[in-house]
Amino acid sequence: MCYTYLLYEVIINMYMVSEDLIRKIESLEEKSRHLEKDSKQRSHWQKKVINYTENFLENLENSKAYYKFDKESFSELYDEAISEDATDIDELLELIDTNLTKQGHVGSSGRHMAYIPSGGIYPAALGDYITDVVNYYAGVFFASPGAVRMENMLIRWMADLIGYPRATAVGNLCSGGSIASLIGIVSARDAFNVQPEDIRTRVIYLSSESHHAINKALYVSGLEHAQIRRVAMDSELRIDTNALEKSIKEDIDAGLKPFLVIATAGTTNTGAVDPFDSIADIAKKYQLWFHIDAAYGGFFMLTKTGQKLFKGIERSDSIAMDPHKTMFLPYGTGAALIKDRTRIGEPLSKKASYMKDAMSVVDEISPTDISPELSKHFRGLRFWLPLKLLGLAPFRAALDEKLLLAEYFYQHLSADKNFELGPKPQLSIVTFRYLFDEDHINDLNKKLEEEIQADGRVLLAGTYLGDKYFIRMAVVSFRTHLKDIDLAIEILKSKAEDLLKRE
Ligand SMILES: *Cc1c(COP(=O)(O)O)cnc(C)c1O
Repeated sequence: MCYTYLLYEVIINMYMVSEDLIRKIESLEEKSRHLEKDSKQRSHWQKKVINYTENFLENLENSKAYYKFDKESFSELYDEAISEDATDIDELLELIDTNLTKQGHVGSSGRHMAYIPSGGIYPAALGDYITDVVNYYAGVFFASPGAVRMENMLIRWMADLIGYPRATAVGNLCSGGSIASLIGIVSARDAFNVQPEDIRTRVIYLSSESHHAINKALYVSGLEHAQIRRVAMDSELRIDTNALEKSIKEDIDAGLKPFLVIATAGTTNTGAVDPFDSIADIAKKYQLWFHIDAAYGGFFMLTKTGQKLFKGIERSDSIAMDPHKTMFLPYGTGAALIKDRTRIGEPLSKKASYMKDAMSVVDEISPTDISPELSKHFRGLRFWLPLKLLGLAPFRAALDEKLLLAEYFYQHLSADKNFELGPKPQLSIVTFRYLFDEDHINDLNKKLEEEIQADGRVLLAGTYLGDKYFIRMAVVSFRTHLKDIDLAIEILKSKAEDLLKRE
């Protein structure tokens, strides 16, 4: 009796709890369903967004390449706190326009020629659109074989371009050149089984023109405590291979263990290309891992000039490339390639037990086997769609055009006795300075750079070569054409003359 009563109680309670629970869930569902809008609402937003981006692209020709940071309007982003309520799209696009689009560098402008610009080729955005709507999980082959295969196919295409053997090469589409070099450097560390206790006896060789990203990668990989040799350079700022070999010999004599040499296919400062063939000879002789940072220059392999300059690139062990630079993709697309997967084991494939299903499908390598990322942005479609929609020919032409535009600019300034030029460009970066009064020449060239930036029609930025301040022009955007270089020359000369008059 008592027992039956208890059971009855329990059933009643369950029933009552369930009713209540269901009501609560239903009420929440009604609210949470606002996350899923119907087709009518979606197309309303789409139209607004497309309208905004179309306007942006149609006016890009005549708009600035740089908007000086405006503190006033910028604070709006902080003021407009995230709240419980929805905001109208028009208001948000307005906010985006003033606070994002018209602040700082215009990454999509063909007159952005500072640092290493990116491109933002349009079909990539459409690839991202599909990617984000369908939301492929491209971390493991098991989950999205097509997405992973698309990335692997692009990696194979890049491996072919570099000259790595298909049978052994692997790679990863990552966020950029920094993570790509990190992957290369971690691979070197693991191929040589460098352990914490012997890091201080290990030696790494690179030049002082190598990118800051390499320092970061050494730091993250724990290798910053290795012996790091900054190898001397020739007058064109390329690694001096005699100095490299001499340094290696000295280190071996001192009982140290050289294991890694890092070279650059187009330094960021001047576009200098290290002599890969000779470095590869040395790497082979002393059994070093040879990593190339080709973040800026890699895709010039699509041109005859690049193929000649990069002779020996295929003899490296790993390489970092940046499709968001010389393949003109939007920011967030880098690529790491490793020549021989058997040398690295599976350093980053540390698989969790909940991924058993993923482990059972081993026929194709997955991004997580090579990269520290697990859930990752599927970067394949933003890369594949432009290549397929447009074909490779216009990419090749654009890269050759960039090389010639840099030469054109270099010739122009060489013919003007008011300018001193840095090394003759091997790729598409030109360094120069205006020959102001020797006592103030660095300061005045910085001033000149500021004046050009204040004008904003073109964006250039400077750098030190030794103790001399140079302004740099990096011709990298697919939107940079002859008239943009002419405009840069015109602005440069008139701002310099204004400065001269004022000083
Ligand atoms: C841009 C660049 C990097 C850094 O790459 P991110 O894509 O910015 O991470 C590294 N090395 C060189 C030579 C570069 O030009």
